[in-house]
Amino acid sequence: MALYVQKYGGTSVGSVERIEAVADKLKTFREQGHDLVVVVSAMSGETNRLIGLASQIQAQPNPREMDVLVSTGEQVTIALLCMALDKRGISARSYTGSQVKILTDSVHTKARIRDIEVSRMREDLEAGRVVVVAGFQGVDGHGNITTLGRGGSDTTGVALAAALKADECQIYTDVDGVYTTDPRVVDSARRLDKITFEEMLEMASLGSKVLQIRAVEFAGKYKVPLRVLSSFEDGPGTLITIEDDEAVEKPVISGIAFNRDEAKLTVQGVPDIPGVASRILGPISAANVEVDMIVQNVAADQTTDFTFSVHRNDFDKAEAILQRVAAELGARGVAGDNKIAKVSIVGVGMRSHAGVASKMFDALAKEGINIQMISTSEIKVSVVLAEKYLELAVRALHSEFDLDAPEAVSES
Ligand code: ASP
Ligand code: MG
Repeated sequence: MALYVQKYGGTSVGSVERIEAVADKLKTFREQGHDLVVVVSAMSGETNRLIGLASQIQAQPNPREMDVLVSTGEQVTIALLCMALDKRGISARSYTGSQVKILTDSVHTKARIRDIEVSRMREDLEAGRVVVVAGFQGVDGHGNITTLGRGGSDTTGVALAAALKADECQIYTDVDGVYTTDPRVVDSARRLDKITFEEMLEMASLGSKVLQIRAVEFAGKYKVPLRVLSSFEDGPGTLITIEDDEAVEKPVISGIAFNRDEAKLTVQGVPDIPGVASRILGPISAANVEVDMIVQNVAADQTTDFTFSVHRNDFDKAEAILQRVAAELGARGVAGDNKIAKVSIVGVGMRSHAGVASKMFDALAKEGINIQMISTSEIKVSVVLAEKYLELAVRALHSEFDLDAPEAVSES
């Protein structure tokens, strides 16, 4: 008998029929003797609909009122799910975030969880009840309703699992696990049985959208075993867990992540003197533009080309700033390209294997793909390339690092 915290996302509770299907699933778990705390999202599309209503009234509504508004979506699903459970003879109780209570800071629309009271949930579990909690929401120290940022129900699930010391936090969604890469790009992508928190964090921050990044961070910090599974079909899903030191043979690369929404900018011919990097990037960060990769190297003439990448949406803003900065610094000019993409290989096995990066570069060279920028971390190598080569690059790397599903290999 285990204690599971299960989170069902928007599509999993997207209609009355789907909610009934979730209730059937929960009934099976109860019959197996498991204790359940269930976190639900709003019905799919509902949060967007609510935000749409607000925007018809005000372009920038007060964040406190926004939270009162968008938190209603989850309140609907907790009640409906409890009704569906009651209909099946299963006793259950629904709670909003403030009832539980999930205490957060006061940063409306992106609040962080500070503390969770478990006593009420424990009492229900002991009385044999399923506890159903509204995801995405909490309450601050003054009793104001807060929300945790889009996709925040994942974080609610993980936080509850940590607070209750649950055996596993299971995230039920519309995919059956975490894949080696996006199956829409590579047919032979396969579901991973296991991946480490660190790898999942890299995959998530690099654009794989299965889980909210904060939820993964949280799970890693509190070592909550996290499993991603489909609510539409049975299967083992993917377990996200700590690195297994015992495992003799670790895959060198677990996955290939990519991001299309990138742009790069170069300030050309900057004098190579102290303070230049800060004078270039200072105004960029002051304008709230997030910088990703940075490359700088000194040429023989004692000037440097200073290149960095940003989100494509910030390209125009960053370019305008650089034009001004370049003039101030006496640089030669500013160049930019907003048709680039980033492709990354991710794997903890990289730590103990030499030559991973050169294998990557070799595979790209064989396809005639030019690498424009490179950055590395302990468990990741990222390259920037022209967007038109993105799919080709991902496919080439997927097969180079032996990630293709076995069936696909025998087909080709
Ligand atoms: N309903 C919220 C959203 O759509 C939270 C969630 O689904 O995780 O972002
Ligand atoms: Mg979601």
